[in-house]
Amino acid sequence: MSAAVPEPAAVSARRRRTREQLLAVLARHDALSRAELARLTGLSRSAVGACVSDLVEQGLVGEGPATAAPAGPGRPAAVVRLRRGAGIVLGLDFGHTHVTAAVADTEGRILAERGEILDVDGRPQQALDAGARLAHAALAACGATMDEVVGAAAGIPGPIDVRTSVVREPTILASWIGLDPEAELGARLRRPVTVANDADMGARAEHLYGAGRGIDDLVYVKASHGIGAGLILGGRPYRGATGIAGEIGHTQLPGAINWCRCGNQGCLETVVSVGAVRRRLEHVLGGAAPDRLPPMAELAASPAAARVLTDAGRTVGRVLADLVNCLNPAAVILGGELGAAGEPLVAGVRESIDRHAGQGGAGAVRVLGGRLGERAELLGAVAAAIQSSSAAGPAVTAVTRPAAPAAVSR
Ligand SMILES: [Zn+2]
Repeated sequence: MSAAVPEPAAVSARRRRTREQLLAVLARHDALSRAELARLTGLSRSAVGACVSDLVEQGLVGEGPATAAPAGPGRPAAVVRLRRGAGIVLGLDFGHTHVTAAVADTEGRILAERGEILDVDGRPQQALDAGARLAHAALAACGATMDEVVGAAAGIPGPIDVRTSVVREPTILASWIGLDPEAELGARLRRPVTVANDADMGARAEHLYGAGRGIDDLVYVKASHGIGAGLILGGRPYRGATGIAGEIGHTQLPGAINWCRCGNQGCLETVVSVGAVRRRLEHVLGGAAPDRLPPMAELAASPAAARVLTDAGRTVGRVLADLVNCLNPAAVILGGELGAAGEPLVAGVRESIDRHAGQGGAGAVRVLGGRLGERAELLGAVAAAIQSSSAAGPAVTAVTRPAAPAAVSR
C-alpha cells in the first residue's frame, strides 16, 4: 500500500510555527529567495535558512536558480519553490477529550496541525464541527485550500460497522451510537472522508512508520480509556466482517466481577482501562489524585508503580495470549496512554503470553512498545487518507516506502 514518512522527531512548537509560516508564504508566491522569505515572514535570516534547509531535505520545497536573469552582478540568488505536485491530504484524530487535524503531503510529511481539547464523548456534533474547523485552520496555516485535498480520513475511539459506516455498541461513545461519522464529516468538509476505529488507525501507523515496520502480521493494542486492538494481517489492515475485529476490551476475565458499560460483568476494560490503572497507581503512590499523576512513561521509573503496570500487562497479556494462539502474529505492539508506560507493561504482557499461548505462537511473537506514542492514531489517519487518494484515481503519483522510522513526539 501507499506509505509515508511522518515529520521528523520532536519538532518543537516554534520550529513548527516557522515551518508553517514559510509554507504559507510560499503557497502565495511562485518562488522566493531566502531574503524575501525573511522579509515577508518577519523571521530572522538564520531561522529562515535553517528551516529552508530542513524543508529541502524533506523534499517539501525545492531550491534552484531563478528563471529571470539576476539584476545585479555576481551569482544569481537561488529561489525556493513549493513542491506539492501530488496534492495534499487531511488526517483527523478524535480522542475522548481531544480533536486534532493534520495536513500532510501525499508522502505523509506533516505540513500543519491544529488541535483542541473538548468533550468528544459527550458532544458528538460539536466535536465533528471542531474537526471541520480545525481542518480548515490547518489548511490555512500552510497556505493550502480544500480544493487541493486529494484524500481525507479520520479515526474515532469507537467501533464502526463497515457495512453501514455507523458507530456500533458497545462503546464508550454512547452519544455517538447510530451516528454516521463518514456522512457527518463528509457534509462538513464537502468531500468524502474515510472513517475507522482509532486502534485500526494506530495499527496502520505503527506498521508503516513505527515499531511494526517490516512486520506484516501484527496486533496493535490501544490501551487507553477503552482497550481495543487493530490488526494487520498479511500486510493489510483487517477489520472483520462487520468492522469490529480486535474489540478485545469486552473479553471476560475469570474472577472479575465489576459491571461493564456493555452490560456484561468482568470485561477486560473494567480491570485495565487507564482510569482503573490510575486509581491503583494513586493508591500505591500514597494518595496522589489520579489527574495529578505524572505521565505513564515517568511513572514506570517508580518500583511501586512499575509493579502495578506489570500486573496490568499480565491481565492484558492473558487476553492477548488467546489472540496470539488464533492469529499467530509476529508482533504485539502496545500503544495508547497505557502503552506509554513501556517496559513494565511490556514485561507483564510478555509473561502472560509465554505462559498461556501455545509454545509455537508464544515463541514467534515479539512484544514491543509503540514508537509513535499518542500520535499513532493521527499519523494512521494521514496514511489512510493517502491510501484513499491512491484508490480514488490515477491523478495521484505512487509514493515510496518510508525512509528511516521517526520517533515522533508532541
Ligand atoms: Zn464489556
